[in-house]
Amino acid sequence: MNKDIATPLRTRAILEKYGFSFKKSLGQNFLIDTNILKKIVSFANLHENSGAIEIGPGIGALTEQLARSSKKVVAFEIDQRLLPILQDTLSPYENVEIIHKDVLEADVQTVMEEEFKDIDDIMVVANLPYYVTTPIIMKLLEDHLPIRGIVCMLQKEVADRISAKPGTKDYGSLSIAIQYYTEAETVMIVPKTVFVPQPNVDSAVIRLTKREKPAVSVKDEAFFFQVTRSSFAQRRKTLLNNLTSQLPDGKQKKEEILAALDASGVEPSRRGETLSLEEFGRLADELYPHFH
Ligand code: SAM
Repeated sequence: MNKDIATPLRTRAILEKYGFSFKKSLGQNFLIDTNILKKIVSFANLHENSGAIEIGPGIGALTEQLARSSKKVVAFEIDQRLLPILQDTLSPYENVEIIHKDVLEADVQTVMEEEFKDIDDIMVVANLPYYVTTPIIMKLLEDHLPIRGIVCMLQKEVADRISAKPGTKDYGSLSIAIQYYTEAETVMIVPKTVFVPQPNVDSAVIRLTKREKPAVSVKDEAFFFQVTRSSFAQRRKTLLNNLTSQLPDGKQKKEEILAALDASGVEPSRRGETLSLEEFGRLADELYPHFH
């Protein structure tokens, strides 16, 4: 077995060898604890025929553990300075492909078709750059990629919002957007001390398991998300207030909105944070004909 990359000593040696300086703007906080990395990988339930997609391999700490636990790893890295380092640190692993690209601009679907021939169990596993966690997760889900799910490290505060249940302070349009596509759970809280440099915020690992079909069936997905975002525009306002002020021509359509609330069995005085996904689904479908 090769020496692990993710020990404090080896990481420091690699960074010194290449004179690497961290770029805060790219969310560069590298993991230096092998046990944490192994745990992250274990949450993904990979097997010898699985594929793994990583976003932001850094110096390869997680990539190495993924390479040992799967058939193939494809990793997207934006920072060109890391490419020679990765070539060096990951040289013992022949099943790793590094793609120098901003993942938000990448055609992940095409890359998957090319790189994962004969592999039908694919997980995204990543220690995400914290400045873009939500856009990355939403892109992976909205692109309808053929993945089983996502296991990723992110800010604990965002993890709390993603996995929040109705009636809690963290529940909002982000919880709904992600739980619409996946079953979301926070599986581990991670201390700051396992990163270099240490981030300013607490971290957590979440697991998102893709649903076979969305949590609720709605007439129009885009309108469903518009209704949920509108309902949380001002958290302390009632549903009726938010919908009339946020939906197009909402003020003139107050009577229609009241009728749709009534038909979906939702009291106009409730707040968005109390509605389940099913209730939002019913409400969006009842509102739909009045706005199209
Ligand atoms: N996986 C490594 C680890 O756990 O030690 C590094 C994780 S570090 C939190 C985030 C990594 O994502 C950095 O290597 C950074 O350069 C890279 N990155 C930042 N923005 C990116 C983007 N838009 N697309 C791809 N990689 C990105």
